Order: sequence, then C-alpha cells, then structure tokens
Amino acid sequence: RKYGSPGPTIFSKVIDKSIPADIIYEDDKCLAFRDINPQAPVHFLVIPRAPIPGISAAEDDDAELLGHLLVVAKNVAKQEPLSEGYRVVINNGKHGSQSVYHLHIHVLGGRQMAWPPG
Ligand code: 5GP
Repeated sequence: RKYGSPGPTIFSKVIDKSIPADIIYEDDKCLAFRDINPQAPVHFLVIPRAPIPGISAAEDDDAELLGHLLVVAKNVAKQEPLSEGYRVVINNGKHGSQSVYHLHIHVLGGRQMAWPPG
C-alpha cells in the first residue's frame, strides 16, 4: 500500500462521514472543513481523500494532487471573509506540531497573524 501505515486517523471518519464535520467544499480528491478548535475567526482544513500521513510522506507523483489542494485552499478562502489576507500552513512531524497524521493544509485568517510563529 502506498504511504505506509500509521493507520486511519480521525480524518478518515470525516471523509467517510462517520463523524460530523462542517464541510465547506468537497470533490473526488479532497475535502475542506472547519477546524473543530479554531485558532482564528476563519480556520479551515483542506485534506486529500488519499491517506497521506503528512507532507513529508507525499511522493513525487502526488504533485498534481498537492497542487489541487492549494488551488482548493485559495478558492475556498475566496468564499470566506478573508479580504485582508490569510495564512496557509502545513504542520509536519513532531517539531512541526502535527497532531493528526493525515495530511492537511490549514487556512487561517480574520485577524492579524504574528511572524515568526511560536
Ligand atoms: P495539526 O496540529 O495536526 O496540524 O492540526 C490538526 C487540526 O485538526 C487541529 O487544528 C485540530 O483542532 C483539528 N481537528 C482534530 N480533530 C478534529 C475533528 O475531529 N474535527 C475537526 N473538524 N477538526 C479536528
């Protein structure tokens, strides 16, 4: 099986709709839904349906899928009150503070973001 096996995560249940989620976009390759613990007035996640554990586990032939996730992120952002800008983040691994090992792109906005991040 591609990507090895950390096994299913909570996001598998979002994908198969066995747990509720506030899904704001979906297509055959990905979903976007609101983060359950938002860190900004707007905070949603874009995830592939494919169980890629994280960006470091993506393969070179995932390029088209990875591009699609970014296109979806900016298209969904356009429908949100984010005219002043937003941040797009992928946390990866322990030092990246990744907590769910199913690749996800965070989109955060609706307030001023600090840089550098903590
Ligand atoms: P990470 O720290 O792995 O980059 O981010 C995981 C994100 O998933 C966190 O912001 C967390 O609040 C969110 N999250 C975890 N479990 C759920 C869930 O069951 N539903 C939703 N909508 N978000 C979740």
